Amino acid sequence: MAQPALGLNGKEVWQRLMEGNLRFVQGVFRGRNLPELRQTLTKGQRPMAAVLCCSDSRVGAEIIFDQSLGDLFVVRTAGLALEPTSIGSLEYAVAHLHVPLLVLKGHESCGAVSAAVQHPDLDEGHIGAIVRQIAPAAARARESGREGPDLVEAATDNFLQLLADNLRRHSSIIGQALEEGRLALVVSKYSLQNGGVATLAATF
Ligand SMILES: [Zn+2]
Repeated sequence: MAQPALGLNGKEVWQRLMEGNLRFVQGVFRGRNLPELRQTLTKGQRPMAAVLCCSDSRVGAEIIFDQSLGDLFVVRTAGLALEPTSIGSLEYAVAHLHVPLLVLKGHESCGAVSAAVQHPDLDEGHIGAIVRQIAPAAARARESGREGPDLVEAATDNFLQLLADNLRRHSSIIGQALEEGRLALVVSKYSLQNGGVATLAATF
């Protein structure tokens, strides 16, 4: 089995990403020689983490964690809704690129989650498939008495936890890697307000 990138374990990679996020929050970015890095990476990739995050234009993982080419294997879908090809992409990162860390990164004020809260039965092209996947988490948040923006945030948190549980249970590749300690899993949420990423749950 290939060694994880940089020889870091999942917890150490998460610490590195949080350090990068702190630089992002402070507006102090790491300098990089991108042409040189690009050349080095023609030989192959060894990203240090797989990240599932929203397609929202404000939440790009490489920028928020102050990382560069070759650092992160990123899957983006609106609201983090999953289907077989996106799960397969995450599995590829675990099984073939041997990433030691999988990060689920939701965010505040997610439009896909808001849609699931307001129009759980939306039938518009394939957009409905996204909304319907998030809708049960939104319904549970509503049952807990939340309202307004608070309801959207609770629905987001519920859905992120549901995603983590589903990946663990229904992807044998991810579930087995977690069980054997080859993979760590972090559920996190990005604040549009202050730029920080909060850890909601972690399995190291
Ligand atoms: Zn979003």
